[in-house]
Amino acid sequence: MGNKVSQFYRIEKNCIRCGFCLDICSWDALDSPGKGRAFTIEEELCPGCGICVDCCPVGAICRSGGGDDDPPER
Ligand code: SF4
Ligand code: SF4
Repeated sequence: MGNKVSQFYRIEKNCIRCGFCLDICSWDALDSPGKGRAFTIEEELCPGCGICVDCCPVGAICRSGGGDDDPPER
């Protein structure tokens, strides 16, 4: 706990603000901060479905947090 980014995914600065992820996310977990900034993912809304990763044309959406097999701490 205590991480400021999504436990599952985060958006890198190379985001071109195309909005594809915003359109595809069923949980409305993506935010557009405006003024040329990269989109962000609200960790409380994002269940980590991963759909937006495939729709991003520049590969800006990456897994965040621990390693691949790192189970969540209780
Ligand atoms: S991983 Fe799924 S829920 Fe999270 S921001 Fe992407 S599309 Fe939305
Ligand atoms: S799909 Fe990728 S490039 Fe487009 S707004 Fe989302 S994170 Fe940015």
